[in-house]
Amino acid sequence: MNDILPEQTPVWQFVEDTVRKVLSQYGYQEIRMPVVEQTDLFKRSIGEVTDIVEKEMYTFEDRNGDSLTLRPEGTAGCVRAAEEHGLLFNQTRRLWYTGPMFRHERPQKGRYRQFHQIGVECFGMAGPDIDAELLVLTARLWRALGLCEHTRLEINSIGTSAARKEYREALVAYLSDYRDQLDDDSQRRLGSNPLRILDSKNPETQRLLVDAPRLDDYLDDESREHFRQLRSLLDAAGIEYTVNSKLVRGLDYYGKTVFEWITDSLGAQGTICAGGRYDGLVEQLGGKSTVAVGFAMGLERLILLLETLNLVPDSANGNVDVYVAAMGESTVAPALALGESLRDALPGVTVMGHCGGGSFKSQMKKADRSGARYAVILGENEVANGTAGLKPLRSDEAQQDVAQGDLAATLEELLGR
Ligand code: ATP
Ligand code: MG
Repeated sequence: MNDILPEQTPVWQFVEDTVRKVLSQYGYQEIRMPVVEQTDLFKRSIGEVTDIVEKEMYTFEDRNGDSLTLRPEGTAGCVRAAEEHGLLFNQTRRLWYTGPMFRHERPQKGRYRQFHQIGVECFGMAGPDIDAELLVLTARLWRALGLCEHTRLEINSIGTSAARKEYREALVAYLSDYRDQLDDDSQRRLGSNPLRILDSKNPETQRLLVDAPRLDDYLDDESREHFRQLRSLLDAAGIEYTVNSKLVRGLDYYGKTVFEWITDSLGAQGTICAGGRYDGLVEQLGGKSTVAVGFAMGLERLILLLETLNLVPDSANGNVDVYVAAMGESTVAPALALGESLRDALPGVTVMGHCGGGSFKSQMKKADRSGARYAVILGENEVANGTAGLKPLRSDEAQQDVAQGDLAATLEELLGR
């Protein structure tokens, strides 16, 4: 679990703000859920024999003896909340949320025990049109973040649960002949969650899978048609993708469309956004049958990617623009007022006021350390004359005296705002 330090928060804010803007362009509404839910909710939705439920959940008993779990993902809680508050009754919904998720995994680059996701969930829309909307939306987001050349899209259809059941039997029958050649993980999955073997990272396992039965041969007609339409919508929208017939997801509730946005710039932890349809989940959790589709993206990986590629924009550096220094006790109140008037006039500019007194030299040192481009210096003479000293901190230009009334306009021009 990581502390996100002040030096890092500007890039987080840049990513969060960008995502927020893109989502609002499409009319998505934010929902905020608690970070704990009843343990049972996750068991029933994600599935008892998934990695998340078997090995990764932070589960504890609260003072009432209820079993609660720190949420490992957002979909289950979002469905719970939407049902509980009647958000799905006779209407479609486009929702999003963000916040920390918790999984007890082996920590490594791009994989942490508390991590953050932005998730999107759409309810009540059955067609491939909404699947396509989610993908054009994410493509727009990559453009806004400068990442579109560094991400690629993989899609697949995993069909209905009946089709998967039939396929599962065929896959197990095939792989059972090679049981000894499978690693421990895959051997275990053969009995519990055989489809997960398809995305094993083990090269030997992948070699065995070359001749294995293919999921697409077992797809039901409706899933096949849905997937065909989705591909033609993506083609029409100019979204590039590859069909990966081995793409499955580690959560039981997915069916039909699944997709992942992958980057090749982060090594093994390359999936930055993953999702798909889960038409059965709402009903499975006790609601009226409601089709749904969604995705979640991992913020740590997105930020790591921006940093790795040096794509963090200057505007996300969190710097102070102007530092107001006050020389002498009688200048403290005027300096406070001058700072306020600058903030009134220049709402997009960061004005840091010096606090805590000190010599000229020490105030200038702090001004420099703040990263500000300009210091505004107020001494007793300036207060008496209604002026202020304006000192460039990042160039050799000379300090000038500016009438306080002209200061905002001068700074606006100098800062190019
Ligand atoms: P992976 O195959 O990488 O384990 P997953 O199938 O467990 O991913 P999801 O549950 O679909 O992933 O989560 C969606 C996204 O959340 C992932 O693509 C990734 O970006 C991010 N994510 C998942 N687990 C972690 C983690 N432990 N630390 C950081 N980010 C994570
Ligand atoms: Mg995982």
